[in-house]
Amino acid sequence: MNIKIGIIGTGTIGADHARRITQILTGAEIIALTDVNLTQAKKVKTNLGLNATIFEDGHSLITKGNIDAVLVTSWGDTHEEYVLAAMRAGKYVFCEKPLATTTQSCQNIVDAEISLSKRLVQVGFMRSYDFGYKMLKDIIYKGDIGTPLMIHAAHRNQSVSENYTTPMVIHDTLIHELDIFRWLLNDEYVSTQVIFPRKSSYAHSKVTDPQIVLLETRQGVRIDVELFVNCRYGYDIQCAVVGEEGVANLPEPQTVTVRKKARLGNKLLVNWKERFINSYNVELQDFIKGVQAKKLMGPSSWNGLAAAVSVDACVRAQKSGQIEIIKLPERPIFYR
Ligand code: NAP
Repeated sequence: MNIKIGIIGTGTIGADHARRITQILTGAEIIALTDVNLTQAKKVKTNLGLNATIFEDGHSLITKGNIDAVLVTSWGDTHEEYVLAAMRAGKYVFCEKPLATTTQSCQNIVDAEISLSKRLVQVGFMRSYDFGYKMLKDIIYKGDIGTPLMIHAAHRNQSVSENYTTPMVIHDTLIHELDIFRWLLNDEYVSTQVIFPRKSSYAHSKVTDPQIVLLETRQGVRIDVELFVNCRYGYDIQCAVVGEEGVANLPEPQTVTVRKKARLGNKLLVNWKERFINSYNVELQDFIKGVQAKKLMGPSSWNGLAAAVSVDACVRAQKSGQIEIIKLPERPIFYR
């Protein structure tokens, strides 16, 4: 039987998730929607031909929606409130990243979940569902490149809006890398430093771009991540893991190689929606299966908290120019 889903926040990703649940995935239907902008929620309902009730706000959707699960896809600073309310009402929650915008808010969600003794929350870190990252992890764990020593990575966006600021490079962009390297290496960060190269003339006044984030893990792996959010040429995610015996690279997305006008080339993607389109499908299908089985297996609130602690340290490092300590609390048995 289909599980019944309500969506809080029908902007870019909320509308996209509504589309995939309705048109691509199986086992779920959307029966409730809300957005601060109700016209936007109505538009999604009409465009997808949904038989869904539009609620005035997230709280009435949670308490009166007769739903099994909630997708929280509103702005980050509203996540804590809705995730806690949904948990109190006994609903499963798929919360887009970030789980919440402060470490304390993430801790509140972790504490609430532990006190309920039941995993109710999956966080929208979709990269561990990406086929390329899965292959990379497989190679690392089979020992094919020996013990991992370093990671060289890059996260490049074509451009960002005028409202995009220097800390957003960490909490909106780097957060995906912060989550995926922990998963790839099965390790935790101990410190971070942020370095600012010469600023691109294409960067807006509010963002220092590019940036290089240096991370160190408990096992001594050193990671450098180039974050370049006005790179102009495309959306480009790179990750090379250097081991004692070899190097493993994240595969490029599949494209056709074209020979034309004395050139040999492949088309590059320009946005994140296209680059990770399949990962979003797989992560949400996994969430639906988890709700059906009453057992969530995807990224947990603990992953959300770990990301928040690391984000805070990286933002401190942006300001101080110094090496900042990343100190994650001990992982509760509940999340092991
Ligand atoms: P967006 O386009 O601005 O959409 C957010 C929507 O939520 C907007 O329609 C907004 O209303 C609505 N909203 C804001 N506060 C609300 C509230 N209190 N109750 C109900 N609705 C509310 O942003 P987005 O790009 O979709 O991002 C949403 C979340 O997804 C963010 O946390 C973002 O970090 C995350 N995200 C994740 C990924 C990923 O790769 N996993 C990618 C993109 C976004 P208005 O119409 O008034 O703006």
